[in-house]
Amino acid sequence: MSGTSPPFRPPFCPNPKCDSRKNPLSWRYHKKGFFLRDAKPHRIQRYRCTHCHRYFSSQTFSTTYWLRRGHLLEAVFHRLVSCSGIRQIARETGVSHSTIRRLSDRLGRHCLLFHEQMRPKSGPTEPLVLDGFRTFEHSQYWPMDLNLVVGTSLFLYGFNDAELRRSGTMRPSQAAKRLILEKTYGRPDPSATEKGVEELLRRVVPPGAHAVLRSDEHPAYPRAMKRLKDRSFEHERTSSKAARTTSNPLFPVNLSDMLIRHCSSNHKRETIAFSKRRQSALYRMATFTVWRNYMKDRSENRKIGPPAKALGVIKRAMSAAQVLKIRLFADVVGIGRGWLRECYFGRIPTRALEGCRSHTARHAI
Ligand SMILES: [Zn+2]
Repeated sequence: MSGTSPPFRPPFCPNPKCDSRKNPLSWRYHKKGFFLRDAKPHRIQRYRCTHCHRYFSSQTFSTTYWLRRGHLLEAVFHRLVSCSGIRQIARETGVSHSTIRRLSDRLGRHCLLFHEQMRPKSGPTEPLVLDGFRTFEHSQYWPMDLNLVVGTSLFLYGFNDAELRRSGTMRPSQAAKRLILEKTYGRPDPSATEKGVEELLRRVVPPGAHAVLRSDEHPAYPRAMKRLKDRSFEHERTSSKAARTTSNPLFPVNLSDMLIRHCSSNHKRETIAFSKRRQSALYRMATFTVWRNYMKDRSENRKIGPPAKALGVIKRAMSAAQVLKIRLFADVVGIGRGWLRECYFGRIPTRALEGCRSHTARHAI
């Protein structure tokens, strides 16, 4: 943060309970020495808030706060969307796989906030396409959908998760194992998709707005829309058996599915890099969302800019350095009290890992 021009100025007190948050214009702080560290920049300026007397530093506002190897953050970002597995990245960068997993989680939290801050908050100006991206967590006995809402501009408006019951053809031994697992850990909620899609649409389509929504013939989707009485939807359905060409109305979401599968090692078929926890899959999906919307071009050949440029959200494609330039704070961005908050703070459970320590964003505010 420091060492760049213009000189860094703390934008607000990082303490969410500080009185100055109510009246930011009256906020004052003092410079209060500095500390030295091994990583560059070596000299870090410290400050003290004159309202709550809390100390902080220029690092408090950096995405690399408290990181010993902050320079890895950008490199890991690129590898996570280039289909590298956690252990592959660890071998390349010479750190442990747990370090890479923590960096992946940190990037996911940052990207959740980044997208929430950047995405359009008014009613959608283009038709939206809804679908569930089928994958699994922990083992193939625990399938799940990542519900996606994509615009015709290819902008990924949002996503969430819905756990599913394993279905399809199973050997008798597999059916027996499913029975035992469900007895031990409980059965996924049969209405998880309906509830998930309702939450997602509630987030993407504001109250009073109208949206043209395209989807396949999944019966849970109309039920989810009916629950949102203060929004109006024009629902256009297309059979999932229709050819997946560019003229298919569901093309934007089909393309997203293809890109997720292509760029994320945890969603490859027949892989050992699958996500062991749903929470990790969601953090990685957040990183993918930011890369897809604000960094990756809509056309690799024609270079017409990323989807966010087509929507008028940004003027030109962003780099990873720009996305990671400044730390975002959950209470400043505003993440409500629903799924987004639970996901940000790492509270999405994995049924088969009942006793596992849920990783909470300890330093997230
Ligand atoms: Zn303060």
